[in-house]
Formats: sequence, structure tokens, C-alpha cells
Amino acid sequence: MPRFRQTAEILKLMGKKECIRNVGVIAHIDHGKTTLTDSLLVEAGLLPQQMAGSARVLDYLEEEQKRGITVKTANISFLHEVDGLNYLINLVDTPGHVDFTGKVARALRAIDGAVVVVDAVEEVMAQTETVTRQALEERVRPVLFINKVDRLIRELRLSPSEIQKKFVRIISDFNNIIEIYGEPEFKEEWKVDPARESVVFGSALHKWGFTVKTAEKKGIRFSDRDIVDRYEKGTHEELSQVVPLYTAILDMVVKNLPNPMESQRYRVPEIWKGGLDSEIGQAMLNCDDKGPTVMCITAAQVVQNEGLVATGRIFSGTVKGGDDVYLIGAGKDHRVRQVSIYMSAFREAVDHISAGNIAALTGLTSARAGETLVDVEHMSVAVPFERIRYVSQPVMTVAIEPKNPRDLARFIEALSRLSIEDPNLSTTVDRETGQYLISGMGELHLEVAMDFLKQHIEDVEFNASNPIAAYRETILKKGARVMTKSLNKRNDFCVQVEPLESKIMVCLEKSVNLDETMLRKNEGRVWALDEHINVLVNSTQNSQSLQDVKESIVSGFHWACRSGPLCEQPLRGLKVRLMDAHLDGDPENRESAQVTRAVSRAILGSFLTAKPVLLEPIYKIEVSVPMQWFGICSKIIARRHGKIEAVEKKGLLAIISGYVPVAQTFGLSTEMRSATSGGAFWQLLFDHWEKMQDRFAVEVISQLRQGRGLPSEIPKLETFADEVCS
Ligand code: GDP
Repeated sequence: MPRFRQTAEILKLMGKKECIRNVGVIAHIDHGKTTLTDSLLVEAGLLPQQMAGSARVLDYLEEEQKRGITVKTANISFLHEVDGLNYLINLVDTPGHVDFTGKVARALRAIDGAVVVVDAVEEVMAQTETVTRQALEERVRPVLFINKVDRLIRELRLSPSEIQKKFVRIISDFNNIIEIYGEPEFKEEWKVDPARESVVFGSALHKWGFTVKTAEKKGIRFSDRDIVDRYEKGTHEELSQVVPLYTAILDMVVKNLPNPMESQRYRVPEIWKGGLDSEIGQAMLNCDDKGPTVMCITAAQVVQNEGLVATGRIFSGTVKGGDDVYLIGAGKDHRVRQVSIYMSAFREAVDHISAGNIAALTGLTSARAGETLVDVEHMSVAVPFERIRYVSQPVMTVAIEPKNPRDLARFIEALSRLSIEDPNLSTTVDRETGQYLISGMGELHLEVAMDFLKQHIEDVEFNASNPIAAYRETILKKGARVMTKSLNKRNDFCVQVEPLESKIMVCLEKSVNLDETMLRKNEGRVWALDEHINVLVNSTQNSQSLQDVKESIVSGFHWACRSGPLCEQPLRGLKVRLMDAHLDGDPENRESAQVTRAVSRAILGSFLTAKPVLLEPIYKIEVSVPMQWFGICSKIIARRHGKIEAVEKKGLLAIISGYVPVAQTFGLSTEMRSATSGGAFWQLLFDHWEKMQDRFAVEVISQLRQGRGLPSEIPKLETFADEVCS
């Protein structure tokens, strides 16, 4: 269908909620997500045939430049016909590499269903589990595509009955993930079942696929060697005509995955904690075009000549150009300049977009991923969406700075664009060296970030250090009550730190709604939380008199948490209790800088008395490698202080899983590739923080202090505290 006709039809369908499917394709790296997505887009006329198929996401950087479509574009809308009825498919992009699971988490907020691709040879792998779990936690319903079936026939030469057995195992492993992570009320219904057409078997490379029912209809059976024979005779290409993959996947999507009207009924209570009986609550539950406007922004991108483009899912109401909207997180209102949908690599401006759809908006300069947008009339009663849950953390850091200080302003501007587009990168300034520190999930994530900077400030040269692991400083026991005076000696603050209860840490890490857990438990005395899982509790008796310096006390807490006394790494897992405070009667003598500095120093003082230790990040590693290289891979992992937890044999492959310290993974790619002639595939995903053994910690602390130009001695309690209280 010509594009303008498609656009007109798409606009018409946007109002017919039962004909909309918001979906994504998710997978373990290399299982065929790109090949499948490309073949869907080719069929929809949105990607030229010659650009599809051959690409590999592994080389994310090259990929992005070369194709500039599925990787960068947040969403693509196209039509699909089932039983004479047109459906609007909004396909949301999710990157394949594990360093970008943050982007997957954000994309999941926008969709209602996901096609999970599993390689028939490798079967269900760690990242299959991670992405499916992420989907289930967002109440996004999964269906299954078992890909690369051609390899079972041509490479593994399995018999039809062996192929069947493999299918049964994959489906059962997949359903097991749903059993573990699915919510009780959905899991039985959501388990995939070939008889209910929620599983497609096929080959993305050769563009064929079918559900059990289609196969029956077309008279195709593995057991009769139909498929196997075609491969043996070399006539398998006909399969893409007889049972085209495009039809199989999209039919499965339309028939099994919910439309936004159905899905919002059960998704809204999970991802939005406002009153469901309120006007907004009802409008969102009913996906009402005429209700108040509520949208969740899932991606923000700075585009030349247009400024910031915010993409997201509209949960209720209708957005038009010229609308005045309010961003709850930023606390700012803006006027929407233009509303558009994604068609192929371009955005197409439209008059309006209604609930249940995905929209791109310009004009909202303060929009960031995760934001909640409402119309200004409802700003006072609106409640934000729940935080998007990330499964990984930025654990690798590079220090960068422009070579010429003259370029600093442009450099900072590019950095701020980078952090707008990728909220999973954390950027801070090193207080001592003035360098900018960028932390990401892994080496590839940082490479992509560096490339972004190079592209955006081509003529600015900058120095970048080699990546190093990010560390955390924590404590093993309760510290002393420490009192610190402000510089003018007119105010003093007494603070005591202790390790945060592990139950609370788990809640905070999962971004569970804090009001319900910790805040209530502490009777509203929690004054602040920090991104590195620290909590400030007000335990003073004279709370009232502290109200007008509360903000400065909280700043002091954040200031201390950003950089600890051991080696200026962020603090983690602390409960900081403000025990007592004496303030000068004259507000001029208790100005913000005096309070902030004294509070942060008291915290660092108490920290030093609480058996401080260094934590290092640990990756979970999973390697899939042909048997002959199993030994060498195990040795590489062991040499890098890794621990192998399990080894599983899957056909000709060994699947090794274990843990390895992030600091030991630099250069792992090169070593692994050359040792196995490129035969090994692996992924590293942050798993947990672990206390470093003392002898290694001493070395790391000393290196970090040296790198920052700090004295080699760790500061003493007296540096921060005036008195240790009883
Ligand atoms: P992604 O990382 O999940 O996006 O995976 P890709 O789509 O890049 O595929 C990874 C590799 O598997 C590429 O070399 C593809 O050509 C190949 N591939 C994808 N689908 C199939 C298939 O059905 N059969 C075979 N034999 N190879 C496939």
C-alpha cells in the first residue's frame, strides 16, 4: 500500500482500539531479533530488501550507522490484515545487546505484548530469561518464536522426532520462566501453547514460519519430513511462499496479544499507583480518548533542527499540537509543538494521536525517559507512573575531558545531550581532578557513548581514560555518633550511620513503591533516599525547628553519598541517622553552605568508625561455545578470578555460567575471540556488589587515590568530626 494511504488508514485505526497491537521483539543476543524485525519491515514496505537480513546487532556501533533505522528509531507503525480486517501494529524497538537492557525496560512500558525469539539450537538462555522476566514484571504478555529451525536440519541433522523433542523442551523451559516470574492471576493463561497458536516455528533467515494450525491447514508436517525433505532437495526457498514468516508472526501477534483497551485494564494498576476510581484512573483503565491526557515518555532524543523529540505511550486522552502539558517529574509545563508517528525511518506529522497509541512529540524540552505527562488542567491531581525497573547498573567508568579548556562549554552540552538520550549512563564530575566521569553497563555501552560524543562534537578533541570498574564504599557495623560544627562554629550536627537492613535494600533496588514499605515503617521520618541505596532518617527530637534547614541537611546527605572517604567512590547501603542538631538563631548564620558542609562531614566521620570496606561489581557471565573450546574458555574465566557455577551441554554446545569481577573483564572479548577462533558467544550482565578481599581492596584504594591526586593515607576521623558523642 502506498505510504500516504497507509498513513490515512493508520490514523483511522488509532481510534479503533480493538485493532491496535503495541508490540516489541525481545531476545537473547544473536537469536535472530534483527533478522526477524527486518523481515517484518521489508514485508511492510518500510525497509529495502537489500538492507535486511545480513546484519548483526553484535556490532552495535557499525550497525547503527549503517542502517540507522531499527536501532535508533523508537517505534514503527504499519498495517497487517487478518481475516479481512486491518490491524495497526506499533512495533517498538528494543536493542539486543545486554548492555542496553535499560532501553528494553523503557520500551516495555510502551508495549502490551512481546514476541520472544529463541534460537532452536541454543534454546532458552540467560538473556531470554532476563528479558522475559522484565516483560512479565511490566505485565507485558509474551508469545514465542522458535527460530533457526533450518540449523537443526542442516547443521545438526536431527530427525523429525529429535526436532520435536527440542521444541517440547524449549516450550517447557519458556513456560517455566512464566511459571516463576508471571503473576498468579495471569500465568496459566499466558503460558504459550502451540495448540493455541502462541508459538511460531521457523527460520527468520529463510523467511518461513508457521503455527501448528497453519501447518495443518497447509498440510505441512515435520513428521512427514516435509520441511526436512525440502532442505535436502534444496527447495526450501518455496517455504517462504507457502508459509511466510511475516504472516505467521503477525497473525500470532493479532490473535494472542491484547489490544490496549484490554491490556490497560490490568497494566494500569501495576504501573500507576493513583486512585483507580478517580477521573484519571478511570480514563486510563478504559483507554479513553476523551479523558484527561496521560502519557508515559519512554525515550527522549535530541534531533537536529527539531530539538528534543519525546516518544511515549498515551494511556488516556488525545494529544494535539498546541496542547499545554505538564511534566510531573520536571515540574514544568510546555506547549506541544508537533505530534507525529514513526513510519519507516521518518516521522510523519499528524494532527492528533489518541489513547493506546505511541506518539512522538516535539516542544517538550524537559522531557526525559520515565516522565509522566498530563494536560495542564489535571496537573494538580496527577500521579506519576511507577519508576521503570532496570535489571542492570552502570558499573564501568571512563574519565574524559576536552583537550582544550576552550571547548568545555560545547563538551558539557554534548554530555548533557548524551545523558538525556541514555538515562542509564551516569555522568558526574570528579571533584578533585575536574574530569567528567561517565559510567555505563559495560565496555560496549561506553564505546557507544564515546562514539556519540565524537559524532556530536566532531571538532572537539578529548582525552578518555581506559575504562575502570566502578566501586562502592560501604560499612559493616554501626558507627559512632559523630558531631561536626559548621565552619562558623554557630551550628552543629550529630550523625550516626549504620548498615541498611537487607530487606529494605532489596525493596529499594527493585524500586518497589517506598511509601508502602520503608517510609511507613519509619513513621515518615525518612527525609531522603539516594540513587546508590542510602537513606537519611531524621531521629532528632526537635524536628520542627529543623524544617527551614531541611533542604540543606538533605543536600549534605547527597553530597556525602556521592563520594566516600576511602577513595571517593559513592557510598552504598547506609542508613544515616541525624541524631541531634543545634542551630544558630540568626538565619544568616545557618545559611545553606554552612549546614550542607557540616552534615556531610559528620556523615563521613561516622562512616570511618563503622568498619568501612570497598565493594566491587560482579558480572554474571554466560558463555555458549562449541565443545572443543570448552576447556580453554573455562581457563580464561578462572584466570580472571571468575567462578564457574554450572556447565550444561546443549547439542554440540557447552553453556558455561558463572560470575566474574567487572574489573577482570577488560580485554575479555579479544582473548575469548582469538582463543576460540570466534566460536564463543558470551554475555556479561551486572549481578551484584561483593565485598573485596582486604589485600585487593588496599591496592584498588591506593590506585584510585593516586589517580585522583589524593594523599595516600585515608583521612582520619578528626578530619571530619569535632567530637565523638557518647
Ligand atoms: P540478534 O542479535 O538477536 O538481533 O540476531 P541477528 O538477527 O543479528 O542474528 C544473529 C545471526 O544469526 C546472524 O548471523 C543471522 O544471519 C543468523 N540468523 C538469524 N536467523 C537465522 C535463522 O533462522 N537461521 C540461521 N541459520 N541463521 C539465522
